[in-house]
Amino acid sequence: MTASGLLKLKPGDTIGILGGGQLGRMLALAAARLGLRCQVFSPDPDSPAFDVVQYATCAEYADVEALELFAADVDVVTYEFENVPAATAMVLSARRPVLPNHKVLEITQDRLAEKDFVNSLGIATAPYADVASAAGLRAAITTIGLPAVVKTRRFGYDGKGQAMLREGVDIDAAWTDLETKSAILEGFVPFEREISVIAARGADGQVECFDVTENEHRDHILKHSHAPARIPETLAEQARSIATRIATALDYIGVLAVEMFVVPGERGPTLLVNEIAPRVHNSGHWTLDGASVSQFEQHIRAIAGWPLAKPVRHGAVTMTNLIGDEVNDYTRWLMVPGATVHLYGKGAARPGRKMGHVTEVAPPTSRKP
Ligand code: AMP
Repeated sequence: MTASGLLKLKPGDTIGILGGGQLGRMLALAAARLGLRCQVFSPDPDSPAFDVVQYATCAEYADVEALELFAADVDVVTYEFENVPAATAMVLSARRPVLPNHKVLEITQDRLAEKDFVNSLGIATAPYADVASAAGLRAAITTIGLPAVVKTRRFGYDGKGQAMLREGVDIDAAWTDLETKSAILEGFVPFEREISVIAARGADGQVECFDVTENEHRDHILKHSHAPARIPETLAEQARSIATRIATALDYIGVLAVEMFVVPGERGPTLLVNEIAPRVHNSGHWTLDGASVSQFEQHIRAIAGWPLAKPVRHGAVTMTNLIGDEVNDYTRWLMVPGATVHLYGKGAARPGRKMGHVTEVAPPTSRKP
């Protein structure tokens, strides 16, 4: 700690990372380049992040003894996924700084709380309603209309825990299929494109945003990200300003992603916030090879209490996710001039599993395998 009470790590200090997936792995690699060590905590013995750190804790998130030992070994704790159990965050934050702070988790783990929070800042989202029963869903449809998207309030990702509702839908069956007691109904947004802003906020309140990213999904999973997004600069400026306001209102330290819809309108396109991810994000992977600093390094700098970098993009960048057995194409990608291949070291290439990604800076499309 410094005299001002702010945490400031020194090279050689240790960052504890909750979660052992590819995001934890890339955070640990970025930390290593800055002379910082990482210890990864994950219940999965096959965690990809375990491969790149010297010390790891393989234990359940509810294992208080393991959490206490982990806290004793590290100088600061961060996380690579937003569903960190509240009790885990409490045990750790009693012993070490946990960044970003626990209030961020409370808000971003619950779609309803998150949308209420975003609206409270005067930032627009799709219309939404709290739904707790089939009758509640029927009532919400009366106000919001159809088509609409019903989403579980918690634990949704990559399109899981949500369903599109169209005219004529069997409301009772749709509610039963969702297998939840708490959901929200969102008006369907006829978006023109999806974008995200990756923003970093330092302990001193400085915010640095990467250039706005445009995202293409396939089967609800991110397939390509392009930077910069094909939107007017005034809209890009608005997107960065929204992310900055959100990060500031959360008193956020670290990197966060704000996903937004670009909606066409008579007086030009406007933005609606879809989701906040309180962590490094798949749509920011292009920064590893396409910018002077990566989202992972920015996160490490922020939680270490170090100055943030001012990111400079190297050119037009495309990131392609290698999903499921697409990873078997890696040798072909390795031969593509200008392509940078990242493989996460995961075992089984199950359908829908993110196995790696490829970055191309100003890629001619003809080069793709
Ligand atoms: P989410 O889990 O909220 O990020 O949603 C996953 C994907 O579903 C988004 O990236 C959109 O492509 C689509 N989606 C989610 N909500 C809506 C909505 N209200 N209107 C239209 N598409 C949506």
